[in-house]
Amino acid sequence: MCKCLDRVNKKLAPDGLMLPTISMLNIENGKARETVYFLSERINSASRVKRRKVIPSFCPFCGIKVKAA
Ligand SMILES: [Zn+2]
Repeated sequence: MCKCLDRVNKKLAPDGLMLPTISMLNIENGKARETVYFLSERINSASRVKRRKVIPSFCPFCGIKVKAA
């Protein structure tokens, strides 16, 4: 498991910012892990569909596979 999320958030913290995160739960052991997500944008501004969160399978910073805890 990489530390990219922590590193990026430490860089953003002085400006009072952080990346959006979501908890991934491992159903087998009940442990959770925070990971980054992307919030989709509307292609058509008239769309009223709720924007969806997209969770990457691999860390967008280093490429390591993202797994639940
Ligand atoms: Zn990483």
